[in-house]
Amino acid sequence: MIPGKIAVIEGDITQLTVDAIVNAANTSLLGGGGVDGAIHRAAGPGLLAECRGLNGCKTGDAKITQGYNLPADWVIHTVGPVWRDGNHGEDALLASCYYRSLELAKDYQIRTIAFPAISTGAYGFPPERAARIAVGTVKQVLEGNTTIEQVFFVCFSKLSYNHYRQAVQEILMNKE
Ligand code: ADP
Repeated sequence: MIPGKIAVIEGDITQLTVDAIVNAANTSLLGGGGVDGAIHRAAGPGLLAECRGLNGCKTGDAKITQGYNLPADWVIHTVGPVWRDGNHGEDALLASCYYRSLELAKDYQIRTIAFPAISTGAYGFPPERAARIAVGTVKQVLEGNTTIEQVFFVCFSKLSYNHYRQAVQEILMNKE
């Protein structure tokens, strides 16, 4: 059953004890604001040192590092699209962030993973649309061959939490 594998929670992703947390990074992978800054602060300088050796990351792609001082063992760094007008491949690029992150998770036998609301902060992606893409893409992957047992969508506000609850209702429960 897919619904039992997906949980929506409100909180700070840096505090979660899961196998991997996903970082909404930028193409440099050298740190930034928002969730990226919070993850680097909590992980400590080892994370930035490892990121320096990764040679950046393309939009829609993902790369993995260790978690250093975080409770999570791994950090999967993915780069979401900057929202322009919706006609520049934004939806597909955002879906690709979730696919690529979960592909890496499978490669590393990761069982529990937490995602922030990628692209919905500084990158300006409309949050309800982003939540539907996140839930729909994760559902598709969980229906296939994967090591993942539990996916957490970690929302940093009540509003974001409500967007995800609505998306889960629509997509997993087939309710409007
Ligand atoms: P992007 O550049 O991809 O838009 P941001 O970090 O600006 O990334 O925002 C992505 C989302 O992460 C936003 O919804 C923001 O509220 C949320 N966020 C910020 N800090 C945290 C945190 N510590 N834990 C979980 N989510 C967070």
